[in-house]
Amino acid sequence: MCSAVKSNAWMLCPQCDLMIKLPDIPVGSRASCPRCHTSLTANWHEPRKRPTGYALAALFMLLLANLFPFVSMKVAGLTSEITLAQIPQVMVTEDYSSLATLFLLFVQAVPAFCMITIIVLVNPNPLPTHLKVVLARILFQLRNWGMAEIFMAGVLVSFVKLMAYGEIGLETSFWPWVLFCLLQLRAFQCVDRRGLWDRLSPRPAMPHPPEVGITGLEQGLRSCPCCTAILPEAEHTCPRCDVTAQARRKHSLQWTLALLFTSILLYIPANLLPIMVTETLGTAYPSNIMAGVIVLWGDGSYPVALVIFIASIMVPTLKMLAIGWLCWDASGQGRGQNDSHRMHKIYEVVEFVGRWSMIDVFVIAVLSALVRMGQLMNVYPAWGAILFAMVVIITMIAAMTFDPRLTWDRVRENNMKESRLDGN
Ligand SMILES: [Zn+2]
Ligand SMILES: [Zn+2]
Repeated sequence: MCSAVKSNAWMLCPQCDLMIKLPDIPVGSRASCPRCHTSLTANWHEPRKRPTGYALAALFMLLLANLFPFVSMKVAGLTSEITLAQIPQVMVTEDYSSLATLFLLFVQAVPAFCMITIIVLVNPNPLPTHLKVVLARILFQLRNWGMAEIFMAGVLVSFVKLMAYGEIGLETSFWPWVLFCLLQLRAFQCVDRRGLWDRLSPRPAMPHPPEVGITGLEQGLRSCPCCTAILPEAEHTCPRCDVTAQARRKHSLQWTLALLFTSILLYIPANLLPIMVTETLGTAYPSNIMAGVIVLWGDGSYPVALVIFIASIMVPTLKMLAIGWLCWDASGQGRGQNDSHRMHKIYEVVEFVGRWSMIDVFVIAVLSALVRMGQLMNVYPAWGAILFAMVVIITMIAAMTFDPRLTWDRVRENNMKESRLDGN
C-alpha cells in the first residue's frame, strides 16, 4: 500500500479541488488537505488484516444480535419481549411497510452488505476485477446510509421514554448489537478509499504533469468522485471505475435547491401530523414531534427531551437553512477566502449531522414493537413518521448533490479580480 502512495503522489482534494503532492505518509497516520483540512488518504497498519478482522467480528455480532431477544419491558406483571427481527414485522402488521423497509435497509442490510464487501475487496480472491470495481463503487456510495449506530441511539432514547411506564430489561442480544455498531464503524475507518482503489486496479495515467497549489479546474484536470483518479477535464467517464462525472457536479445548485424545497414542503406536515399514537386503556392519544418533546420535558426527562428536540427539530431546520445558505453563497453571492473556510465548515457539519435526525424514526420503531401490552398500553406509528423519514432522506440527498468545490471556486475568481485591479 505504501508503494502505491509513494509512486503516485498526486491527488486532487475532493472537497476544494486543490492539487496536492502527497508526502510519504508514515504508517498509522493520514494526510489532509492544507487548504480545507479534509482527510485525503491514510497509510494504516495492516490494510488487509485489520478491516477483515473488524468486519468478520461485526458480522458475527450481527448474527448473535439477531438470534436472541433484544430488549424486554415489564408493566404491571405483563412482560413484552422483542427480537430485532420483530421490529420490522410489527411495522408490517401495522401497515407501515415503508418504515419496516427503512429499518431493514439502513439498520441491518446496508451495514451487513458493507462488511461483506470490505472483506471481499481487501483480501485477494478469484472474483473478476470488474465485479470488484462494481462492489467498491457501491461500498463508498452506501457508506452514509448505514445507520446502525443511529438506531442504537434511538434504542437508548426509547428506554428513557419508557422508564416512566415500566421496567426495561436488556436481553441477550443487546450487547452483541452494541459491539456490532462499534465494530462496523471501526472496519470502515480502517479502509482507505485511495489505497483500496490502487490495489484493485492501476491508476490511469495523467495527461500532463500537474501543478501543485492550484485547482484541478485551472489546469484542465478533474478528480474522479468515486476512485480519486486524476483525469482530463474533458474525459467524463473514468477508465478505472467507470463512473461518469464532470469537473463540477452538473446542475449541482439546481438539484440541491429542488430537493431543499421538496424537503421544506414535507417538513411542514411532518411536524403537524402525529408521528405516533399511544393507546392507553382503549383511548388513542396521537402526538406529533413537538408534543413528544413537551411531554418528556414535563416528565422531567430533560436530557432526552433535549436530544429529541435537537435531533428532530433543531437539526433539520438548521440543516435546511444551511443548505439554502450554501447554495446562495455558491451562486456567487459570497465574498472572500475567509467566507470559503466558513462555508466549508458549515458543509462538513451538514454532511455529518444530517443522518442523526433519523433517531426519532427509530425511537418510534422500537416503541411500537415493544409497547404491546394488550388492553393496557400500545404504541403505533403514524403518518408523520413516514413524512419525517422522507425529510431526513431528501435533505441527505440534497447535501450529497451539493458540490463543495463551488464554495472554493470563488477564491480563484477573487484572485483574478484582484490581479486585474492591480494591473490597472
Ligand atoms: Zn481541500
Ligand atoms: Zn474513477
